[in-house]
Amino acid sequence: MSAANIVIALTKGRILEETLPLFAAAGIEPAEDIFKSRKLLFDTNLDNVKLMVIRGSDVPTYVEFGSADMGVAGKDLILEYGDEGFYEPLDLKIATCRLMTAEPVNRQPSLDRLKVATKFTNIAKRYFAEQGKQIELIKLNGALELAPSLGLADAIVDIVDTGRTLKANGLEPRDLIADVSSRVIVNKAAMKIKHAVIRDILGKLRQAVEAGG
Ligand code: AMP
Repeated sequence: MSAANIVIALTKGRILEETLPLFAAAGIEPAEDIFKSRKLLFDTNLDNVKLMVIRGSDVPTYVEFGSADMGVAGKDLILEYGDEGFYEPLDLKIATCRLMTAEPVNRQPSLDRLKVATKFTNIAKRYFAEQGKQIELIKLNGALELAPSLGLADAIVDIVDTGRTLKANGLEPRDLIADVSSRVIVNKAAMKIKHAVIRDILGKLRQAVEAGG
């Protein structure tokens, strides 16, 4: 019996640079240099495994609907998308950062409804609701750090790594919403139908994470 075919959706960009060494340690390597190609789907050294390289925000969608059997995505994007539609069996412990609120340095508390700019609107909505705070949400797709100084928002919800981006824009981190790292997610039907192959890949990736950690 030949092994079931598996498509794995990887997040492009900085996460990919940390993902590929782990996959190589787990015995899965793209057949060509992903960084030098404009292709989106790659063969690997294994006949039954293909790698897709797409935007992180699209990985949960491809995995939930089964066009990809497995995926690698940041916990931030998984929380924003909603984590009900797939399994999340493995933390790769790469691309670690924090999802935080941030405000201008020395901003005084105000009784007015807080204006919050973010691309993580679902996460922000949930977080401030849990805090019992009424907010006005402003959806932005980038350059969030500019919003407070231009008067568009009082606070932002964004990814913080070193904190340099915040500091350079006169902001400071306030509340931690979630610790973020990249996770392996698996389509629910594939986990049953292709269980042997997926369990094998997960086991090798887990070993690679433990060896590197
Ligand atoms: P820093 O200045 O080091 O705090 O980095 C903050 C910026 O880098 C944020 O605006 C994020 O967009 C981006 N960033 C840092 N780490 C990650 C990560 N692990 N995943 C996605 N984006 C990140």
